[in-house]
Amino acid sequence: MESPERATPRILFVEDEESISEPFTRSLEKAGFEPVNARTAAAALDLFERLSPDFVLLDLSLPDGDGRDVCIEIRRRSDVPILMLTASGTETDRVVGLELGADDYVVKPFSGREVISRIRAILRRSSMATPDPGMSPIEINDLVVDIPGRTAKVAGKEIKLSRKEFDLLAELVRNAGRVVTREGLMANVWDVNWFGSTKTLDVHIRALRKKLGDSATESRFIQTVRGVGFRFAPPEEIDRKP
Ligand code: CA
Repeated sequence: MESPERATPRILFVEDEESISEPFTRSLEKAGFEPVNARTAAAALDLFERLSPDFVLLDLSLPDGDGRDVCIEIRRRSDVPILMLTASGTETDRVVGLELGADDYVVKPFSGREVISRIRAILRRSSMATPDPGMSPIEINDLVVDIPGRTAKVAGKEIKLSRKEFDLLAELVRNAGRVVTREGLMANVWDVNWFGSTKTLDVHIRALRKKLGDSATESRFIQTVRGVGFRFAPPEEIDRKP
């Protein structure tokens, strides 16, 4: 992350409805954050550029545009955690948000307490994601994963992964050869208190496979263990593949 770690995390809160933004801004302050409000997509991008917030809370429907475009634009510039606020609880909307690189989403009307605990969980995880800098890259056939450097290369070519995709890959690679359960992945990569659908996981697995040039049916890397979870194949298993 580009911004230095602040004692009081700065949260860019993009929301045009005052009935939501005013009370929740106060809740954020009480919870020990430094909220900065933006009411439009344009203001969001401008403030993002100027203030380098530690976290973005992003409403999807804005008067001058779509929050999804703001998400794409922020992702292009930074790895900052993004939590989306969506009025629609449809699966498609949620999945689309996650595919754009948001870390998580909350469906409106939301509970302030719940959103604050999600923000804390996401921030905690992103600060914990700073691993031992001395850890050497892990090589599995033509895949090289440098966990401290947060890079992955296939056949010498760097692949561009979202923050979550990288976290997921790192978790699988750390456990290479072992089955990692869906629940375990949700707990370690997303939220310790995750009780929801694991659809998010499937979306990220699919994206990761695509970027690694892997497939569900003829997997070189990520094997599906039906009804349980996934296994990142150890080199000897990959070598046995035709
Ligand atoms: Ca709105």
